[in-house]
Amino acid sequence: MSSLISVLVQIPAYSRMTGVLTYLNDQPLEAGSLVRVPLGQRELLGVVWDTVGEPSALKIDSTKLRPITAVMEALAPLNANWRTLVGFAAQYYQRSTGEVALAALPPQLRDLNTTQLAKRLKKQGTHFNENTGNAITSVALSAEQTGAIAQFNAQEGPFLLFGATGSGKTEVFMHCTADLLAHSTEAQALVMVPEINLTPQLEERFKARFCPCFGEQAVVSMHSGMTPTRRLNSWLAAHSGQARIVLGTRMAVFTSMPHLKLIIVDEEHDPSYKSHEGARYSARDLAIYRGHHEGVRVMLGSATPSLESWYHSRPLAEGGRYVRLHMPSRIGVNAVLPQVRRVDMNHQPRHCLISPPLLDAIVQRIARGEQSMVFLNRRGYAPVLHCADCGWKSECSHCSAYRVFHKIDRTLRCHHCGFTECVPRACPTCGNPDIAPMGRGTERLQEHLAELLTQVTRPDGQPVCIVRIDADSTRFKGSLEQQLEQVHSGQVDVLVGTQMIAKGHDFRRITLVAAVNPDNALFSSDFRAPERLFSLLMQAAGRAGRDASITTQSEMWLQTFHPTHPLYEALKRHDYPSFAQSQLNERKLAGMPPFCFQALLRSEARTQETAQSFLNSASGAATAMPGSLLTRITLYPAVPMTIARVADVERAQMLIESASRTALQRFLTAWQDVLHTTRALPQCKGLIRWAVDVDPLLI
Ligand code: ADP
Ligand code: ZN
Ligand code: ZN
Repeated sequence: MSSLISVLVQIPAYSRMTGVLTYLNDQPLEAGSLVRVPLGQRELLGVVWDTVGEPSALKIDSTKLRPITAVMEALAPLNANWRTLVGFAAQYYQRSTGEVALAALPPQLRDLNTTQLAKRLKKQGTHFNENTGNAITSVALSAEQTGAIAQFNAQEGPFLLFGATGSGKTEVFMHCTADLLAHSTEAQALVMVPEINLTPQLEERFKARFCPCFGEQAVVSMHSGMTPTRRLNSWLAAHSGQARIVLGTRMAVFTSMPHLKLIIVDEEHDPSYKSHEGARYSARDLAIYRGHHEGVRVMLGSATPSLESWYHSRPLAEGGRYVRLHMPSRIGVNAVLPQVRRVDMNHQPRHCLISPPLLDAIVQRIARGEQSMVFLNRRGYAPVLHCADCGWKSECSHCSAYRVFHKIDRTLRCHHCGFTECVPRACPTCGNPDIAPMGRGTERLQEHLAELLTQVTRPDGQPVCIVRIDADSTRFKGSLEQQLEQVHSGQVDVLVGTQMIAKGHDFRRITLVAAVNPDNALFSSDFRAPERLFSLLMQAAGRAGRDASITTQSEMWLQTFHPTHPLYEALKRHDYPSFAQSQLNERKLAGMPPFCFQALLRSEARTQETAQSFLNSASGAATAMPGSLLTRITLYPAVPMTIARVADVERAQMLIESASRTALQRFLTAWQDVLHTTRALPQCKGLIRWAVDVDPLLI
């Protein structure tokens, strides 16, 4: 007697199928079992979702069904909690369950057959935790840390640890993790971090703290920079319960951890927690869901929380849902936050990139053997090349954007599609040989600083060393580590870079941080731009003065044409709460998140007309849906995206808004069918792809 088994497989994202297929097996299978199944000519990895019953009982013609090829018996089935998480994510972010489930598993698992997997597991072996760790070393906690931990232990959460940069949040995370591990022989903790380039430092701290007690296997990492083999090993260790701590980027939220008891989301405000391909999930939001559903404690941490989390952590009496833990002071008796200094660029020489007072401050740092960090959010030498005679500009022929001039290899590079060409000898339109760079990027900033500092020497008589860190300088494996090492070892006097250097790093000798041109974001049409700017500047300021033995007064410099802007005023006072309050007031008046819920429907086609036609047709078809689904739903007209064309593909989007999350969810789910039908209409011929983005970050 055979059984019908429903199996999740990876189905092309835009097919109408949900990714659940039915197969036969000679006996029922436990839900969550991993199997290999045939699909067309291929054999795929699948996850058993359910045993549906027997074909005869369901009046199904079983001759049309194919049998499961193999069951991966060496692995314990994925548990109900994991399946619920995947099911929720698929439903909430409007993707197929099969797609989300298979994307949540390590890629290499898809390529191994049962024999290969068994071999792998044998090789990995089972390492038992060496002891229960009551001997975990720790530092003496500050009063604020002790207070935060006491509240954490006394309440259920979820928690938002709102702590200044350098207030010892990581220490709190480690302490709570140690508590958990010391009181259970199997409990697991998931620690999430935003960026791959920050993981090594955190990983080292956690390993140094926990491996001596629990063994090398106890702490594993999970991020896309790892080799597929290492990633699979980490996953297997987490799934088997052998790994007690998983450190990872957003993908780690889906890790199968049967004994999960604690989730930490460090730098919870960071946009990289939101996926921008496939299912566009927010790992932070899923962490909250997972914690709630699995009865797991969740602690978010940040010096500049997202406005959503800040709002959720308002007082209980006002409807708050998170417990806010506050650590306002930096660790160390003399450690104070940097003093914020604004240079009014209206009173500086025109077009100057580094103002005289800022240069002076940098020179003083060099003379004292201290380091400075100067950042500018634009890589390359200049954002545009330009001909003054005819007005030609270095547009990308494939995108609605300019190609950036990179002086180092004399190329024009498109940062959107990658199209790269050598710089022309003369203007391509009029032949004028005198084409000039317009605007500034990090390469030019580095060159300019080098010129300004040629006459300056270090206390040891050596010339000044300026290093640049951005996506260009770190393209090769190991180069970032090498450059960071130069900074840490003190070889570098001035560090130049993009926001890549502003976040997370624990630089001990930096006593001055400067943002040379932060104003752009003040007047952006994106309602989240001020929030991102404030947090970036606050994080950048957090890189300065981290070691009270080097300086007692560090500085954060801002070159601005709007020195009295309220955002800078709040920054000067390091006053995130008042900044957040003013932003929340504005958003409330404007009916923006977190006071409303949004989704975007995005489309791509060869022409803008087709891209928009799909959106408008889908919107038109929505009006024919039952009225109950449309109450409290606002559909906005289709518009081109800010950069409308990338790599010869035209992009458009449409905003859907509701004051009710439930109403929005109900509408989107019902709309899926309409979208698939719309896509098949003649006016949508030529549509390349479409996707729904729930809770989008960039609008
Ligand atoms: P955050 O994560 O809030 O930026 P960290 O946890 O990285 O802060 O702490 C900043 C620095 O202070 C680190 O070098 C850390 O080792 C040190 N530190 C943290 N807590 C203590 C403590 N209780 N006593 C001494 N040093 C501490
Ligand atoms: Zn010209
Ligand atoms: Zn391009």
